[in-house]
Amino acid sequence: MSRNPSRRWKRQIEDGTSVALIETPMWPWGHLAVGYLLYTLFSRVSIGRSPTASTTLAVAVGTQFPDLIDKPLAWTFGILASGRSFAHSLLIASSVIVLIFLVSRRQKRISLAIAFGIGYLSHLVADAVLPLARGEYQFIAFLGWPITRPPLDSEEMSFISQFMSMEFTPFFILQLVLGGVAAVVWWCDDAPGLQRLRRWTIHRGQRTE
Ligand SMILES: [Zn+2]
Repeated sequence: MSRNPSRRWKRQIEDGTSVALIETPMWPWGHLAVGYLLYTLFSRVSIGRSPTASTTLAVAVGTQFPDLIDKPLAWTFGILASGRSFAHSLLIASSVIVLIFLVSRRQKRISLAIAFGIGYLSHLVADAVLPLARGEYQFIAFLGWPITRPPLDSEEMSFISQFMSMEFTPFFILQLVLGGVAAVVWWCDDAPGLQRLRRWTIHRGQRTE
């Protein structure tokens, strides 16, 4: 257990009698790494080529999407009771993915929907891995939201307190390693998106001159 109360990841279960602890969250780069590694594997096996700049961007957005929705709604605006609820639900995830699939099919860009979907679903799996490994099944209740309710976030939860909770736990180090592996694989994939990013940066630089 963390010694500093502000760094606690302690959450009361709804009946108020049991307390569980999440010491280390899944960080954005961990989600990005897991999503990219899964997508590049899928892309190589299914279509025999590495990801493109567009599909890399789509998978990257998908890997961050649930946290971009739920964390601000829970921690900044107080609309959700947990930073893992609405957009972390399989029901909402499947609805969003189907919607994006339908839109992208119209525009003949199905590969973008697939990349986004793999990124999105990989986020949910990665968030569920640690609670599953610990047998803390109440912390995977977000998958069934709104039928099953995840434990409430502490009132002191915020982006700052989350970053203050950063500690070199084995799970944290695993995410750093995964990030490194994903960066090497991305580079070996000819760094999809890098050229586009360079062109965009140069273009912006010229416009501001
Ligand atoms: Zn999440």
